Amino acid sequence: MQKFDCNECDEQVTLADIEKTVGKEELHDNIIREYFKCPHCNKEYTTHYTNEEIRALQKRMRMVRKMTPMTTKNMNILNGLKRQAIYLGNKLKKEVEGHE
Ligand SMILES: [Zn+2]
Repeated sequence: MQKFDCNECDEQVTLADIEKTVGKEELHDNIIREYFKCPHCNKEYTTHYTNEEIRALQKRMRMVRKMTPMTTKNMNILNGLKRQAIYLGNKLKKEVEGHE
């Protein structure tokens, strides 16, 4: 996602805007919501949610990424962790937004 038009005000939001307004908010049960805001109208967009399980996966991914040399085995481990994090992230998003 490089840039897009805000749903609310139709102004263009760029990647630089997103980086400037990105924030984190802690919800219930150690769930963290990450978001950014449209700099024109302040509409909030949720990028994703993480819980402890997902953050633990992300930590493991960072550890594997640091390993050198990056072997095929490590690449496979990394891809597996990534798939798991995406799956859990989508599941969590449904859970959190379904309860609102
Ligand atoms: Zn806007």
